[in-house]
Amino acid sequence: MNKELEALLALHAQDARLRSLEGKLDRLLAQKKQLEETIASEERELAARREALEELRRRSRERAAEVDDLDTQIRKYQHQLDEGLLSFKEMEALREKVQSSRARMESLEEEAIALLEEVEREEAAMEEREAAFRRWQARVAEELAELERAIAAQRQELEAERSKRETLALQVDGALREQYERLLREYENPVVPLREGRCTGCRLQVSEITVERVREGREVVTCENCLRILYA
Ligand SMILES: [Zn+2]
Repeated sequence: MNKELEALLALHAQDARLRSLEGKLDRLLAQKKQLEETIASEERELAARREALEELRRRSRERAAEVDDLDTQIRKYQHQLDEGLLSFKEMEALREKVQSSRARMESLEEEAIALLEEVEREEAAMEEREAAFRRWQARVAEELAELERAIAAQRQELEAERSKRETLALQVDGALREQYERLLREYENPVVPLREGRCTGCRLQVSEITVERVREGREVVTCENCLRILYA
């Protein structure tokens, strides 16, 4: 094989290596993105639960305040009754009011107690949830740090391999390199072996003359169909 073709094949192999390294880097970046999205979604979920608990606390406080207000009201009525400065009719009306207020008080108190218990249950559950989240977060942070280290290493390797490619490219004759770069925009494999009279890029049969020229290896030969560069 002639020196020109040898240099070109070395460049071609380096390009394949670069493509595979770039693919690996892309996969690592996608993994990182997915992990970050999972973290964000878990954080949103936890924030929503915190908000729901806050709303429950607010309802519980409201109910307790209603109980207190009604209690104050009943005491006021009772005081008026005890003073006895009212007419008989007014006294009757007030007694009825006290009775209905007490009935309302009972159901309000029940609600307030139920809410308070719910708040306690939810607070305990939330504490567990927060602790589990912190454990998960620590593990995921480690995973993320590991991914970032792998990405940095991959980038470093790519940079080194890219500079190697520059060196290899300089060893290929200018016109041939241009031809190769042009083909590279179209094909992942612009340089292919000839097998049993067929170009292994497009899989078509090439002419006898082409086969002969490739075998002789004195010049750079291209497939007459797809224009890929051929070697024996
Ligand atoms: Zn071809």
